[in-house]
Amino acid sequence: MLKHWKLFFITFAAILLMAACSGGESTKGDSKNGKLKVVTSFTILEDIVAQIGGEHVDIHNLVPIGTDPHEYEPLPEDIKKATDADVLFFNGLNLEGGEGGWFHKMIDSVGQNMEHVFELGEGVEPKYLAGEDGSEHEINPHAFLDPVVGIQMAENARDALIKMDPDHKDEYEQNATKYLDQLKEIDQEYQEKLGQVPEENRILVTSECAYQYMTDRYGLEEACIWEIDTEENGSPSQIKALVQSIKEKKVPVLFVESNVDTRPMETVSKETGVPIYPDKIFSDEIGKKGSDGDTYIKFLEYNIEKIYDGLNK
Ligand SMILES: [Zn+2]
Repeated sequence: MLKHWKLFFITFAAILLMAACSGGESTKGDSKNGKLKVVTSFTILEDIVAQIGGEHVDIHNLVPIGTDPHEYEPLPEDIKKATDADVLFFNGLNLEGGEGGWFHKMIDSVGQNMEHVFELGEGVEPKYLAGEDGSEHEINPHAFLDPVVGIQMAENARDALIKMDPDHKDEYEQNATKYLDQLKEIDQEYQEKLGQVPEENRILVTSECAYQYMTDRYGLEEACIWEIDTEENGSPSQIKALVQSIKEKKVPVLFVESNVDTRPMETVSKETGVPIYPDKIFSDEIGKKGSDGDTYIKFLEYNIEKIYDGLNK
């Protein structure tokens, strides 16, 4: 009999404990902890906002590492967080598919107040992808690969956090100042390193045409297989066009990004004899936690190290 009571008590205690734990979870979701409930569209924004928001923000990020931010189907959890969020951040410049894209559809569907929604790419001069006929048509979303754009995005994040949570203005400013100093140092590093690359080697070949803002900023030529991940990736005519242009130039090395199929570039390498750099570089996402490039700052540093090493031959 005693045994039974003991067992009953233990089971009862376990149920109480479980209830307490899940209760704690939902309290946090309701932001009883006083943190600003933030939703970010993808990993780079998540990290920028985390660096500046520090302990005052509770972030839910939408597109995870390994998933394409250009097209995304929000999960039920995402919809709930977006409905409850105090502030929402997106990249803009067409990264999330533009006005008719997944992010804006989600915002509309949850009935969010547009005054809580901030575009971190605001104020960035858009660059356009060249179509196959050479005409400019679509905005290139990948401005964040340029550290100077990163500075603008971090300033936008700082201003939005201060606007939505003025009580912590001083801390947001302090965090942002430290963060901006780091980004300015990285800009210096890009200038110095790419300035040392022999002029005839200043060409960056990648799969997606994602590096346009960065290459324009630091005087590199850009060449790539496909314009953007959402369109055809590595068709025979795209590969042929790149092979042709590489044969006309002296290209030291080819780069492959962490989030793309490596096979099209392998074909380019075979047909041109130009080797592929052994390490992948980052474009649409930061590295997994604990790996190389797991913050935006480290992502930028990693890229310049690899690009410099590959081109400086
Ligand atoms: Zn992309």
